[in-house]
Amino acid sequence: MSLYVKKFGGSSVATPEKMLNIANRVLRDRKPGDKIVIVVSAMGDTTDDLLALASKVSDINHGREMDMLLATGEQISISLMAMTFRKLGVPAVSLTGPQAGIIAGGAYGKATIDDVKPERVFKELEEGKIVIVAGFQGLMKNGDVATLGRGGSDATAVALAGAMHADMCEIFTDVDGVYSADPRVVKNAHKMKEITNTEMLEMARLGAGVMQPRSVELGIKYHIPIHVRSTFTNDEGTIIREVCMEGLNETVRGVAQDAHAARIAVLGLRNVPGVAYSVFSALAEDNITVDMIVQSVRNSNDDKTDIVFTIDDTDMEDAKRVLDKMRDDGKVEEVIYDDDTAKVSVVGAGMLGKPGVAARMFGALGRAGINIDIVSTSEISISCLILRKDLTKAVQAIHDEFFPQDEK
Ligand code: ADP
Ligand code: ASP
Ligand code: MG
Repeated sequence: MSLYVKKFGGSSVATPEKMLNIANRVLRDRKPGDKIVIVVSAMGDTTDDLLALASKVSDINHGREMDMLLATGEQISISLMAMTFRKLGVPAVSLTGPQAGIIAGGAYGKATIDDVKPERVFKELEEGKIVIVAGFQGLMKNGDVATLGRGGSDATAVALAGAMHADMCEIFTDVDGVYSADPRVVKNAHKMKEITNTEMLEMARLGAGVMQPRSVELGIKYHIPIHVRSTFTNDEGTIIREVCMEGLNETVRGVAQDAHAARIAVLGLRNVPGVAYSVFSALAEDNITVDMIVQSVRNSNDDKTDIVFTIDDTDMEDAKRVLDKMRDDGKVEEVIYDDDTAKVSVVGAGMLGKPGVAARMFGALGRAGINIDIVSTSEISISCLILRKDLTKAVQAIHDEFFPQDEK
């Protein structure tokens, strides 16, 4: 007997027919005694549609009310999915995130899963039911529902699988695994059989949207392997695990892209201790995460300095509010907002201590005529901020440089 957590993303549950296909597939794969928990996302583009609907009512992000709205998307899919199983004569029950014991903390719209109390899920499984859980939502301490950031159903699935000691967490999606770059952008990208969780976390953080970064962190926390695979075929996908043999000799394992990296330049700050703190603490108070940061080197006896950094463009309106106020209060001279930028990155544990990776990446960009604005590095990645219009060309050029064997 095994316990499986299977997560199906938005495009996988986009129509009643697709839900029926999923139900049939789950039942076909189920062995006697297997216990199955299914986590689903909202159908198709429902979350985007709900966001658009809210923007027609108000252009301010009303965190709590927005989450009330967004959480309904997943509630539609769980109930329909449960009805689909029941129509096939199979006992099934739908549970919202709060009902399933997903305990959330942090801010509305980007809440974290702080704990999982899966007693109700276990009880329903004991009664022989397939349990269908709404992804992307949890219960805050104050009793409110909060959502877990875009792609957050992945986190629900991995956290449940971890807390329930499932044998496997399967992420079913519209691609058949994790590729060396987004296969919709780089047609000749190759599928990986396995990838380490640290490399996957870095890929995800740097924009590889196939897994939500927090879900990969939860996989690390709970030591649970994750199988990313196709909803529509039976092929083996990619296993995300602690240690893997594949790719041991590769310097770079993948190229990631993030079209949402927006650039902000804060100009004319007083060049004294504590100024950087005043800017970044004001942003942090508003739950705005800052990514690449560069402080300019003006003349050393200049009494002013500049700081350039990137944020996710969805935080742009909030950042404008915070920084425009600092400018109006005379704390900084000028703030320039730029959302035509994007970030391209290479990732691989094999680049640790190996010289020349950055040079090869910059060379590929240079030959493609793409200018680099900001560079940042971690032990296992190098990222460049470029113009958004160049992003697709950049990803392809860098992929060609590191994976010349992937024929076009
Ligand atoms: P779901 O709705 O199932 O959660 P997502 O759209 O969130 O699906 O994630 C799947 C998508 O991730 C794919 O369609 C693909 O375009 C994108 N993607 C980005 N980078 C990668 C990558 N390195 N490997 C595979 N898919 C990727
Ligand atoms: N429905 C949510 C979103 O579109 C969560 C998810 O799909 O994982 O971001
Ligand atoms: Mg997703």
